[in-house]
Amino acid sequence: MGVHDGLYDRMYIDGRWRPALGDDTIEVLNPADEQVVGRVPAGTAEDVDAAVRAARAAFPGWAATPPAERAARLAALRDELAARREDIAATITAELGAPISFAQGVQSGAPITVAGSYAELAARHSFEERIGNSTVLHEPVGVVGAITPWNYPLHQIVAKVAPALAAGCTVVVKPAEDTPLVAQLFAEAVHAVGLPAGVFNLVTGVGPVAGQALAEHPDVDLVSFTGSTEVGRRIGAVAGGGIKRLALELGGKSANVILPDADLGRAVGVGIANVFANSGQTCSAWTRMLVPADRYAEAVELAVAAAAKYVPGDPLDPATRLGPLVSAKQLDRVRGYIERGVAEGARIVVGGTDPVEGLERGHYVRPTVFADVTPDMTIAQEEIFGPVLAVLPYADEDDAVRIANGTVYGLSGAVWSADEATAAAFARRLHTGQVDINGGRFNPLAPFGGYKQSGLGRELGVHGLAEYLQTKSLQF
Ligand code: NAP
Ligand code: MG
Repeated sequence: MGVHDGLYDRMYIDGRWRPALGDDTIEVLNPADEQVVGRVPAGTAEDVDAAVRAARAAFPGWAATPPAERAARLAALRDELAARREDIAATITAELGAPISFAQGVQSGAPITVAGSYAELAARHSFEERIGNSTVLHEPVGVVGAITPWNYPLHQIVAKVAPALAAGCTVVVKPAEDTPLVAQLFAEAVHAVGLPAGVFNLVTGVGPVAGQALAEHPDVDLVSFTGSTEVGRRIGAVAGGGIKRLALELGGKSANVILPDADLGRAVGVGIANVFANSGQTCSAWTRMLVPADRYAEAVELAVAAAAKYVPGDPLDPATRLGPLVSAKQLDRVRGYIERGVAEGARIVVGGTDPVEGLERGHYVRPTVFADVTPDMTIAQEEIFGPVLAVLPYADEDDAVRIANGTVYGLSGAVWSADEATAAAFARRLHTGQVDINGGRFNPLAPFGGYKQSGLGRELGVHGLAEYLQTKSLQF
């Protein structure tokens, strides 16, 4: 079987691997061949309660630990993750189906970078400031309940746990049921670092049971959730009822706006790579490509040519750029959207719902490009979370702004122009949390998060740290 020994009946609570209180387990399946790769306990409300109590007990000590020492623990954690990188990548490939080269790169690299960034931030951050006759203290919020998705399974955990620990909070994580094995690897790394017992706790389980219990727990001070808008809305209501701090990182339908003077070939090529990476299972993916009407035919042709380089294949093959989707459920969902696109009058120029030849097992879908998409179509409005691109024409800049801003989401986006200032001026008109100008590269210190229904709060860098702090003002 495998990549991981498995801790079939164990959860990481209060500094040790202890048996779950119930007997239920979750089978972890490999999306490429549908074989079982591991089994983890399905935690109950009692397990969540034990973890929250451990986190509460550990909180005063960790909150009082000097930031420099918290920083040192985070640096050690970064080193542990780096030392386990091969194991992490193999595990993510086995449970998510991410191509091994992508798992060894972005999937395992980003969390190492982010852990390192918080080691540095914790060391130099000023947890006090002076405002007039006041000293303002930035104190940790308390016990954090983190609920994470499967798409970047380690990154999503680290993007919550690292700033929480840097701030002096203690944490309980409920990872996605599809990808709990890398969460266990993370807990092993935490254990190796020797954090005080209870500072970090892991409860595997299903959302409506363990996730819900964590969000509802009266002793959780802050809930940080990444996942679907539907579940996020419910968690927001629960957290609101308990007057808990809340961070929501939800979906997106980001626009890749190619302005008339842009290098069309480059913009389309990078745009296709952005949508198809991780099999399209990226919340910030540029799933709508907006091109000037008079260059539309040319853009669609370029998209077809660029898409040809993405042939679904075995994630263990280092040459594979596109693996399967995470689950049968996700495959059904993506195929359903492709059918909906056709039914509403869009035109498939690449891909479609036919099975992928030679890959009868596994949750594979053909990477798909739709032309003749109008802004009101379902495939131009809803998050699909698969390798599906909608190409839309626009008449002029105002039309492009209107289309780009015309969804309930606002997470990310891109603008391309021969003139950087023109692109930046356009970006200022977008209602979205991030915009990449002419392919500007990912910045792990820049605030990441959504406008509108893409969420509340920000992750990464100093803005991500601020989510886990609350202020106290002393007047002199
Ligand atoms: P999801 O249900 O929102 O899952 C995210 C996390 O929330 C998982 O840990 C999940 O547990 C947990 N959860 C589910 N129901 C819960 C509840 N009632 N209370 C507390 N926690 C709960 O997402 P999904 O079903 O895996 O994916 C569905 C769609 O969500 C995707 O197609 C995509 O559009 C979107 N999505 C977005 C992101 C993102 O990064 N923004 C990530 C993943 C998915 P389980 O694992 O047990 O369900
Ligand atoms: Mg779910």
